[in-house]
Amino acid sequence: MKSWLDIDPASDFSIHNIPFGIISNASSNKHVATRIGDSVIDLYALSKLDAFATLGVLPDVFNSNFLNDFIGEGKVKTSAVRKKIQEMLTDEKSILKQHSELLIDIADVQVHLPVKVNDYTDFYSSIEHATNLGKLFRDPENALLPNWRHLPVGYHGRASSIVESGVNIHRPKGQTKPVDGPPVFGPCKLLDFELEVGFIIGKETKLSDSISTADAEDHIFGLVLFNDWSARDIQKWEYVPLGPFLGKSFASSISPWVVTLEALDNFRVAGPTQEPEVLPYLKYEGLRNIDLHLEVSLEPEHAVETLISVSNFKYMYWNMSQQLAHHTVNGCNVQIGDMMASGTISGKDEKSFGSMLEMSYGGKKTIPLKEGGERKFIQDYDSIIMRGHCEKDGIRVGFGEVRGQVLPAK
Ligand code: MN
Repeated sequence: MKSWLDIDPASDFSIHNIPFGIISNASSNKHVATRIGDSVIDLYALSKLDAFATLGVLPDVFNSNFLNDFIGEGKVKTSAVRKKIQEMLTDEKSILKQHSELLIDIADVQVHLPVKVNDYTDFYSSIEHATNLGKLFRDPENALLPNWRHLPVGYHGRASSIVESGVNIHRPKGQTKPVDGPPVFGPCKLLDFELEVGFIIGKETKLSDSISTADAEDHIFGLVLFNDWSARDIQKWEYVPLGPFLGKSFASSISPWVVTLEALDNFRVAGPTQEPEVLPYLKYEGLRNIDLHLEVSLEPEHAVETLISVSNFKYMYWNMSQQLAHHTVNGCNVQIGDMMASGTISGKDEKSFGSMLEMSYGGKKTIPLKEGGERKFIQDYDSIIMRGHCEKDGIRVGFGEVRGQVLPAK
C-alpha cells in the first residue's frame, strides 16, 4: 500500500494503522477522526461527502464526543470504514485527494479521550511483574500466590478517573502506615506508574452469557497504551484483603488513538508456555500475543527525558482472549467501551521492568537520570511518557504516546 500523501516512514501512524480517536478545533465540535502521519482526518466532514454511504454508515455516527456509537456499528462496518480510508489514501482520484483540506495538521486540533469508559478492569497478567511484586510485598521464596498460574488475576478499577494523554495528575493524598507507628494521612510519598496496554470492548454480551477464547477477539475493538498510576505506600497499607483501592483509583492515563486489533494482526506471536495446563475454558488456539515494543521515559521539569524501561507486550503470560473468557465465565456482561488493562508489563531483566517499584527494588536502588539527578519514585513536576509500536518487514504500526505530568498534591 502506497499513499499519495507524504508520510514519514518512522511514523507510528502509517497507512497500515488507521486508528480511531476524537478531535475538535476552534471551529468544530468533537468528531470521530483518524490519524495518518502528522495529519488527522475529520471523519464527520469526510462522511458528509458520502465517503462511507455505500457501507451503510451514516454521518451522525461520526458526530460524537466518543467512539462508542461508531464502535457499536460492529466490526464488519468499522473495518470497512478503515479499509475505505486506506483506499482513499492510495487512490489518486479519491474524494479525499480532491478535498485535501480535510487533512488537518495534528498541531491544529485538540485530541480527546477516545471512549466513554463505563467499566474498567485491571489484570495482573505478567508473570515477571507478579513475581517481582510478590517478592517485594510478601515472600521472596513464594512470590507467586497459588492461584496465579491457574487464572488471570484481576480487580475492578475505577472508570471515572481514566483520562487522556496530556492531562496532568495531582499527587494523591491518603492513609499510609510507617513501619513503626500508627497510620498517618498526607500526600503519597511513593508515586509510581505501571506500563500497561488496555483493550476496548467492541461487542457487548448479555447478563449470564460467557465469551469463549475462540470468540473473544470478536469482542475486542482495539488497543491503547495505559498508565496505571499507583501510590505504592497507600496501596501497601490498604490492599489486604480486597485488593487495590485508593492507591490506584485517583487516575489512569491512556493514549488517544485506538489502534484496531485488525491493524495489529501482522504482529502476532506465540505466548509463553503455560504450566501447569490451564482449565478447558482458558485453553486457546493460534497466536494470541502481540510483538509490541514498549518504552517508558521520565522527564523532569525543564530537563531532557531519560528512557527508563524497554519492555514488550508479547511477554504477557495470560493473553487478552483468556482474560475476556475468564472475566465473563461467571456470566458477567461486558459493554461497548469497557476497558480491560493488561497489568504491568515487565520482562525478565531489570531494564524491562514496567514500574519504578520494581526498578528501584522497592526503593533500595536509584534510577540515574540523563542530566544528573536520580529517582526511586516519581517526584512533583516529573512527566511520565509511554510509547509503543510494532514493526515487521518495514511496516510500522504504533500508538504514539501517553504522557502525564505529576503536580503537587491539591
Ligand atoms: Mn495495574
